[in-house]
Amino acid sequence: MRVQINRTILQLVQGDITREEVDAIVNAANSTLLGGGGVDGAIHRAAGPQLLAETRTLGGCATGDAKISRGYRLKARHVIHAVGPVYNPRDPDVPVLLVSAYRRSLEVALANSVTSIAFPAISTGVYGYPVREAAPLALGAILDFCAQHEPITLVRYVLFDAPALAQHEKALRAVAAERRLIIVEG
Ligand code: ADP
Repeated sequence: MRVQINRTILQLVQGDITREEVDAIVNAANSTLLGGGGVDGAIHRAAGPQLLAETRTLGGCATGDAKISRGYRLKARHVIHAVGPVYNPRDPDVPVLLVSAYRRSLEVALANSVTSIAFPAISTGVYGYPVREAAPLALGAILDFCAQHEPITLVRYVLFDAPALAQHEKALRAVAAERRLIIVEG
């Protein structure tokens, strides 16, 4: 499924983000930037040990922010390490920080001449954010950024499994309708 906003195409796909052939893949990192489980572990394994050697020098990253490194053995030239919030339904900052992690990733991408980028579903694994709540915030943040910034032409949103893809397809239908954007199925 995909939607176009100005010059940007946002695609939802199922797969392994480490295999994406885009300028930059986004990592759902933790604030130490020293590696972890889930998609972070997979990215470090695929990129090789030079990635950790570089992220050690970056001084960590605040929640809601993002920092860039090279991609080493990945097909992607860069990794953008974004730190999403740990889910807490009683903390009103949590959705703000999730949106910020996406927006800051896109700002860092623009600043580094990245024109194609792939995102995982930040915070929806170990950090516990329910996909039903995270998906409209994530997709809305990407669409709103791309409505205002043209240089990024392709955003691939990569879901690891079929249930997550189906939930994101439902969310994209809703956020696209709110913005009067046309969905292309398939
Ligand atoms: P967080 O700590 O931000 O919750 P996780 O890595 O635990 O990060 O999970 C984020 C999302 O990434 C989860 O939905 C998980 O299913 C997904 N994921 C895990 N491995 C991969 C991968 N190789 N490619 C794409 N998505 C992945």
